[in-house]
Parts: sequence; structure tokens; C-alpha cells
Amino acid sequence: MTTLTFDSLNPATGEIVGSHPKQTPDAVHQAVGRAEEAAAWWAALGPAERRRRLLDYKAVLTQHLRELAELIHQETGKPVGDATLELVLTLTHLDWAARNAQKVLGRRRVATGMIGLNLAATLEYLPLGVVAVIGPWNYPVFTPMGSIAYALAAGNAIVFKPSELTPGVGVRLAELFAESVPEHPVFQTVTGLGETGAALAADPRVKKVAFTGSTATAKRVMAACAENLTPIVAECGGKDAFIVDADADLGAAADACLWGAMANAGQTCVGVERVYVVDAVYESFMRELSERVTKVKAGEQYGPITMPGQVEIIKRHIDDATKAGKVITGGPDSVRAPFVDPVIVEDVPEDSPAVREETFGPTITVRRTRDAQEALSLANASTYGLGGTIFSRNARRATELARLMRSGMTAINSVISFAGVPSLPFGGIGDSGFGRIHGADGLREFARPKAIARQR
Ligand code: NAD
Repeated sequence: MTTLTFDSLNPATGEIVGSHPKQTPDAVHQAVGRAEEAAAWWAALGPAERRRRLLDYKAVLTQHLRELAELIHQETGKPVGDATLELVLTLTHLDWAARNAQKVLGRRRVATGMIGLNLAATLEYLPLGVVAVIGPWNYPVFTPMGSIAYALAAGNAIVFKPSELTPGVGVRLAELFAESVPEHPVFQTVTGLGETGAALAADPRVKKVAFTGSTATAKRVMAACAENLTPIVAECGGKDAFIVDADADLGAAADACLWGAMANAGQTCVGVERVYVVDAVYESFMRELSERVTKVKAGEQYGPITMPGQVEIIKRHIDDATKAGKVITGGPDSVRAPFVDPVIVEDVPEDSPAVREETFGPTITVRRTRDAQEALSLANASTYGLGGTIFSRNARRATELARLMRSGMTAINSVISFAGVPSLPFGGIGDSGFGRIHGADGLREFARPKAIARQR
């Protein structure tokens, strides 16, 4: 007999955190049916009242910050401080989405430019209806709420399928929403494994799927959505590059590089995985990096690897990199599952899996390049294109390199900073996916333009 529930575990201790139903396709379809009715009510409520309810939800989440941080900590293993930061950033996005939805999506007059015809034209962005959000485990609140908050603000109802590793916090997000919006199930959660997500994506009443997860799963979700022509926004993996130019502040670059690579044990879609340093400052930068990394240890600055299977991938990349390149820090012994200490390896061939594939662990490969141009072309030779970083004191040159970087977002003299800014669109190109969450683009992603032209 198949089990009807599954447990979420604390990855650091193996303790059971919670037990959740494996929701069947029938249960998923019922949830979508309820969401369809709720969507009509929520859309009719109007933007001002939606804004009020969403700001109220923000206040409710703030009141439950400690409880939510503890739940994230238990389900992912990340330190409570990191979980709290994740929540605070989420609240910033929720606030921005609530306050800006009407300005971005509301009806406005549009110049027609028609000669000989006296036309008045308006444009507005209407809700889609039911939006399905399928989320990952690495930032189990920040990542899905980057779609949920914007889709709700745009007037849609949500059916959210959290990762099977972090269902508890996902369920809690929807329960707390009902305190601000008790009338109808505008935000529901369905729990389960991949099949639950598959049933959700395949439901023809879902008007958009916001998927965040691996590139391989995104392809399966797209195939299911193709059946009903359901559009999808796909936020997938990455292999972000970090470029250190000759005139960079090397101390600041080393700090940022380590934080970007090791935060959340490297389980960050926009985490630093490949480092390219120009020849002129290579030794000095490596000195700064090597000094700092001695102070970083798994279980102290960051937690365990959340998904057991990921440890195997990280181990394979470390084995491969240390055989092919020169070890600066750590090595195969750094893997003490579920913990992995920092690993830095230089001169790993560019065609090896450790450089080509997403590692999702606290490991980096470093390569010396002739100049920034060579660093950029190596950075761009990836099938992924999510984020990236450039360190340079020359603002013009850094901006030029950033524009040429094949990525959705680039940070200059900081790392990952673009993800926290709610007015900036977030998303990638190539194997990192398509479509945008966050910002005005993120609001429009969950709305349909409605054009009206009236003859006067
Ligand atoms: P995953 O692809 O294994 O799972 C993601 C979600 O999809 C889970 O909820 C899972 O249950 C569900 N799922 C699995 N099979 C499905 C199917 N056939 N149909 C519908 N849903 C299905 O990814 P993960 O391991 O949870 O997350 C890690 C990945 O997410 C990494 O590659 C990481 O880079 C990426 N990620 C990307 C971003 C971004 O914004 N670009 C943010 C966070 C994580």
C-alpha cells in the first residue's frame, strides 16, 4: 500500500519535524476548484482593499517571525539568523508588491499616434485567475514568496506546492494568510512529492505556473503545461561567475566572494561557484581569500546540506576538481555528510563537471585570466545565466563588463545584492530559465495586458 503521508526531517539531526499528506491529483484538483472561486472574489475586491489585506498579512508574518525562522531552521538546517534574514527580505518584497501593484498594473491612457482617426486608448493589467507556485527548499520562504506576493498583489489566487523537504513552513505561510483574508481560500498549499506538483501544473484551470527549482524539473513542468498552453515562469539553477579585475579592492572582493560562495552552504541559485581573477592581482587576491577561508567552517557559519542526494553531487565535483586542479582549501575530506567544509580549487579545466554543472555546495573553482576580457568570455561560456559579480574600482569599465555578462543580473562590488532589491526584476537566461519575478516585471508576469481603443 502506498503511504499517504511523508515526513519532513531536520537534515542536521535526522529528527522528524512534521508529517504532511501526499496530496493526490484529486485533492489538487479540488484545491484548484476552490482557488478559481476565490480568485474571482479577490479580483473583485479591488486594488486598494487587496493592498490593505497584503500589508496586514505582512504585519501577521512579522508577528510570527520567530516561529517561522525556527521552522525554516528545522526544515533546512540553516542557522536561525540566516532564516531571519530570509524572512526580513521576504517582507520587503511583500511590502513593495502591495504598495506598487496599482501603480504598475492600473488603467492608464496611452497615446495612440494614429493619424486621421480620433482614438482614445487605455491599457491595464488584469488578474490571470489561479496561479500555481511550485517551490524549492533552499530558501523555502523567500523564493516562492517572490512569486506569491507579486501574484497576490496582481489580483490572483494561489495554489502553492512547497518542496517536500520544507512543507511545514509552506503550509504555515498559507495558514497565516487566512488571518488577513479569512473569507475565501485565496492562498492554499498542497503538499506532496513531485507527483503533486505534476498534477497541479497539468490542471487546465491554472492560468500560470511559477516554477522555481532545477532545470531538469522545469522541462517536465513545461511539457505538462504545453498540453493546456499554460504559460510558465521558470526560475532554475545557476553557475554564477565572480570576476576580480586588476583595480579591485581585493579585501572587499575576498569577503564578498567567500560570503557569496559559502552562505547557506552554497545552496543558493545565485551563489558564487566560478571565480576568475586577472593575472596582475591573482596572487594577492588568493592570499586574501586563503586567509579568510580558514575561519569558515560548516556547522558554525553555515548549516548542513539540506537534501541528502545533493551531498553526492558535491562530493563528485570535489573529487573531480581536486584530481584535475590544485587544492587551495579542503578536499574530499571536507565532506562530513550532511556537513561540507569550504573547498577552493584552482586550475580546474573549464570543461570539467565542477566548472560546468551546478554544484550547490560550499565549493569554488578559481582561474587566473590574462585580463578582464578573458575572464568575461570564460564567465559567459556557461549554459546557465542567472547572476554574476564584478569587482572593479573603475565604475565605467565595471558597468561595461556587467552589461556584457551573459546573466539576468550582475552585482558590482557586492554580491547577490540584486535579489534583495524589490524593484529589480529577478531571473535568468539559458538553462537558468525565463520570465521574471520581483519588481514591475514580476507584477506584470502575473497579469494580462488589456488594451481598449475607443473611437471618439
Ligand atoms: P527540484 O526541481 O527538485 O524541485 C522543485 C519543486 O518541483 C519541488 O517542489 C518538487 O516537488 C517539484 N517537482 C518535482 N517534480 C515535479 C514535476 N514533475 N512536476 C511538477 N513539480 C515537480 O528543485 P529543488 O532541489 O527543490 O531546488 C533546487 C534547485 O532550485 C537548484 O537547481 C536551484 O538553483 C534552483 N533554484 C533556483 C532559484 C531561482 O530563483 N532561479 C531559486 C532557488 C532555487
